[in-house]
Amino acid sequence: MILIVDDNPDNIYSLQKLLESKNFKVDTAHSGEEALKKILKYNYALIILDVQMPDMDGFEVAENIAGFSKTKETPIIFLSAVNTDKRFITKGYDSGGLDYVTKPVDPDILMLKVKTFYRLYEQTQALKDIQQTLEMEVERRKQAQLELRSKVDYLHTLLESLPQIAFTCDHLGNIGFVNGRWFQFSDSENTFPQTHPDDRSIMTELQESLESGKPLEMEVRVKKREESGYSYQLLRVWPILENGENNWVGTFTDIDAQKKAEKEKDEFLSIASHELKTPLTSIKAYMQLLDRKLSLDKNCAEAKYVGRVQDQVGKLNSLITDLLDLSKIDNGKLRINKKVFSLERMVQNAIDSIVQTHDQSNMELYRQGDISGLMVYGDEIRLEQVLVNFLTNAYKYAAGTEKVIVDCTVMTDVVKVSVIDFGIGIPENKLSEVFDKFYRVEETSFDFQGLGIGLYICSEIIRSHQGTIAVESAAGKGATFYFTLPLNLPTDAE
Ligand code: ADP
Repeated sequence: MILIVDDNPDNIYSLQKLLESKNFKVDTAHSGEEALKKILKYNYALIILDVQMPDMDGFEVAENIAGFSKTKETPIIFLSAVNTDKRFITKGYDSGGLDYVTKPVDPDILMLKVKTFYRLYEQTQALKDIQQTLEMEVERRKQAQLELRSKVDYLHTLLESLPQIAFTCDHLGNIGFVNGRWFQFSDSENTFPQTHPDDRSIMTELQESLESGKPLEMEVRVKKREESGYSYQLLRVWPILENGENNWVGTFTDIDAQKKAEKEKDEFLSIASHELKTPLTSIKAYMQLLDRKLSLDKNCAEAKYVGRVQDQVGKLNSLITDLLDLSKIDNGKLRINKKVFSLERMVQNAIDSIVQTHDQSNMELYRQGDISGLMVYGDEIRLEQVLVNFLTNAYKYAAGTEKVIVDCTVMTDVVKVSVIDFGIGIPENKLSEVFDKFYRVEETSFDFQGLGIGLYICSEIIRSHQGTIAVESAAGKGATFYFTLPLNLPTDAE
């Protein structure tokens, strides 16, 4: 907007019309005082100022304008009579935006000057805006950098206080920060501790994680600087988003004592189950001999006692067999003898043995799906063990219900064998753990006997057949345990 200041209304009128005809917005003031009030209140792109005014003349107005920081750069065009003293005009006014038009005003000259000043004003305004944006951006960045610095300092203090070895690295695996404990294992802050030659390389594993963006968790043996032996550490490396980039924080946690205890426990279980197996096999054999020798009447009390002893010996035997299998798995010695066999025969054998050992149960066993003639490739005895395990669990955890179903479904590439029961079921949040070693669902573990290793052994057996094993269940809704086996038979199989 342009402000016209003149005490003569006729002059204001003609000038206002001229400017408005060129699409400029115009405001007016009839005295120096009025002009100053308006100038303080509004922003003007240009002021056209009459010099000869009563009370406060144009020069005084200009001097005042120059004194306000808000307005000191607003350009002014004086409308003055000829012979004005220029010294007076420039006094206290340091802006370049000053010009003169002598009266009577030549409209063309005035318009030229107005346009020039107006453009100048617009350009200055645009520059100011840019400058302001830039200043704000610089300030924002400074602030962000300060915040980042303090976050990094905080993280480093935190890592320093940990009882573990801790470090950070960038997305390429370059180590950034290491805490004091790092130097117990490595003499340089740029290299990872030396790992056992038989273990996977930290760098290779880390690179894979960095590329996939997934956290790394691995057990690895590393060497202390002054010692010759290696100790087990759990290495965990997690991505953190810092400054829009993925950086990583890693820790080595000492799990050596835990590993040693685990090894001793495995050795104990292995020795104990071996030692128990031998006398148990003798007891079993002598019980059978005794049974035959006595040839008791089936209904007499003695025959029932012998039968119960045999049942209990059978349970003890399967517990010890599970423990032995467990130590074989731990030592990588679980042998799988694969052959082509009839799946129907295997399923029927498993059902027969389960029905025989559960002759007191009122549960009916139903079959679904026809697999007669279907041949599969695997270890028949081990796969029967899996199915027997599923069925034993169904009879155990669905005791008191009416039926259990064995379903065999042939699919495109696999055959699926399921055991469906209608018992206590498993809460959904526990489903992923039932195949873990020694896992038992807490809520029900006191009501049923067991070691929590049967399903772990099953999953290892199925894994070595390249099959899948899973469970679908919900608390109180029964459970469906199933495994699948690939259907392709090897060309050279017997
Ligand atoms: P165990 O039965 O000896 O405890 P398993 O490894 O066979 O060990 O099973 C692990 C756990 O899974 C069991 O303790 C039980 O909590 C749960 N589970 C297994 N089968 C069933 C089932 N059919 N219904 C409900 N829970 C089951």
